[in-house]
Amino acid sequence: MEWAIADGTSVKGDFVLMNGEVTPSEAKHAPIAIDIYYITPDKCTECQGFHEEPQCAAVCPVDCCVPDEMYQETVEELLQKKDRLHL
Ligand code: SF4
Repeated sequence: MEWAIADGTSVKGDFVLMNGEVTPSEAKHAPIAIDIYYITPDKCTECQGFHEEPQCAAVCPVDCCVPDEMYQETVEELLQKKDRLHL
């Protein structure tokens, strides 16, 4: 399924992705995978600023929400991302 920065966020206009690419927030991006559920790193804040623990991992019955070693962010970085996504 395609994804967009604007989906489920309050972002309007252009948005700078983690890789430095600038994208219109409404732009649809190709799925990261087509045969598995995935979390978009550009949109995941590990629930910082909202909950004490990642809510997807807390409710997943088969523990499939696991940390991605390619995206290791500090709490400060995650909170900054949260502020950029949810004004
Ligand atoms: S950790 Fe929180 S923000 Fe990230 S995908 Fe799970 S529920 Fe969404």
